[in-house]
Amino acid sequence: MTKNTNASPYMLTTPIYYVNAKPHLGHAYTTIMGDFLKKLALIEGKRVLFVTGTDEHGEKIVQKATAEGKTPKELVDEVSSEFRSAWEKLALDVDVFYRTTQPDHYKMVQNALQFLKDKGDIYFAEYEGKYCVGCERFRTDSEWNEEGLCPDHQTPPDLRKEPNYFFKMGSYQKELIKHYESNLEAIEPSQYRQEVLSFLKQPLEDLNISRPKTRLTWGIELPFDKDYVTYVWFDALLNYLGAIGYEGGDFAAQREFKNEFWAESHHLIGKDILKTHAIYWPTMLMGLEVPVFKKLHVGGFWMNKGLKMSKSLGNVVDPIKVSEHFGVDFFRYFLLREMSFGSDANFTWEAFIARCNSELANGLGNLASRVLKLSQKNFEMKIPSASGLNDQDKALVSAMKALPAKMAQEFEQCRYHIGIGHFNEAVAECDRYINDNKPWVLAKDPEQKDRLASVLRTAMEALHVFSIVSYPLTPEASLKLQEALGQSGEIVGALFRVDTGLDATRSLTEVPQLFPRLELPDLE
Ligand SMILES: [Zn+2]
Repeated sequence: MTKNTNASPYMLTTPIYYVNAKPHLGHAYTTIMGDFLKKLALIEGKRVLFVTGTDEHGEKIVQKATAEGKTPKELVDEVSSEFRSAWEKLALDVDVFYRTTQPDHYKMVQNALQFLKDKGDIYFAEYEGKYCVGCERFRTDSEWNEEGLCPDHQTPPDLRKEPNYFFKMGSYQKELIKHYESNLEAIEPSQYRQEVLSFLKQPLEDLNISRPKTRLTWGIELPFDKDYVTYVWFDALLNYLGAIGYEGGDFAAQREFKNEFWAESHHLIGKDILKTHAIYWPTMLMGLEVPVFKKLHVGGFWMNKGLKMSKSLGNVVDPIKVSEHFGVDFFRYFLLREMSFGSDANFTWEAFIARCNSELANGLGNLASRVLKLSQKNFEMKIPSASGLNDQDKALVSAMKALPAKMAQEFEQCRYHIGIGHFNEAVAECDRYINDNKPWVLAKDPEQKDRLASVLRTAMEALHVFSIVSYPLTPEASLKLQEALGQSGEIVGALFRVDTGLDATRSLTEVPQLFPRLELPDLE
């Protein structure tokens, strides 16, 4: 198989996280999902750019810093580095860690604003509205609940009247509706595309994009009015272009800025920021004359026994503590397997331990250990060569070669948990094959040595497939298994090796413990 020298680009982003809180389970899930999709694209042979970072302006930052007796700069530096180190501890392979307080970001945002102002997309006007400080935006009349509170923050509106600058978001409404009507896969899962289209049935208001400095100075100054700073969402969303080197202004005229990645840009978000990403952001792109991103992937919330996690309920799961205690593979496996992407899911210790033990320790962990130990013992660390395969052997090998495509079909529809389910079923199928053929009995009979070789080789071909397709899911165990099989460990384009099979010239190495059995943690 020749190596793909013209690998296709693929860009993945998480939201840049707001630094008024430390990394929590929701942040970890979205970033792990990004790393999972990156690794999936890598084994397919793509060139990937994975972007995350921190969103560091706005009123909530100033409030939080004041409460802690810090300057906003001190606070954002501290919390931003906590996010950076969290992703390192979770072994996530980030390409760009973007901060909205970095100097090139200021310049880019100002250039973009000037471009919109020059073409007449920004105007100055008096505005009165109901503002939610938690959301950092004006919410329309229909966006408050029956008690008149913000449904996300349970707080009453702050009535605000002030002259501000507005972006003509409403003028892009028709174009936006057309975009979502003709791009059926622009937002996944599809119920969120429907939600956006039904929201767009009401007239779309223009977007207030400024804050007077009399009220807030912690932001990016408007290039055309030094008495105002830029609204934090307007500044933050532009990070996605900043990450590929956009300098603001005329997009088409800018050359070497990795725009090939932009054509394949995928934004991962949580459902609470759907409106800013599905409405504000594409209209901003239309104003800037930049093509709309390829796809929004919208995830649900993590709950605990049906309740939102909160400090006051004492049911918060700390992603760093869990992965330090159990290892990153178990943690990411559980999150990816448990949530039906787009819906809410529960994190409970009982479910975590049960899944890890039944699906990993008793699944691939146990299978790999049985097959590799028998091979080592009977074939002196060599990969046994099969002299003849019977129909059952051949059926197993071809089922395993079909596994990546079967999983990919689900992954393309955002049904990650089902694709992972196919992986577990394949491991179980291989387990049944071993139980049917009883290689430990064959090993006692010297006349059955050829049959033993065929059975173990067939099972090892299956392990080889598992070692590759499990890389996005449980990367540490995947690499250990590839090493135990004596295989190269080359990741980019590794799926090609599913077809070529094991390199039988290599020798086996020590049998690793891939997934130790877990016990319920002491919750204190
Ligand atoms: Zn709110």
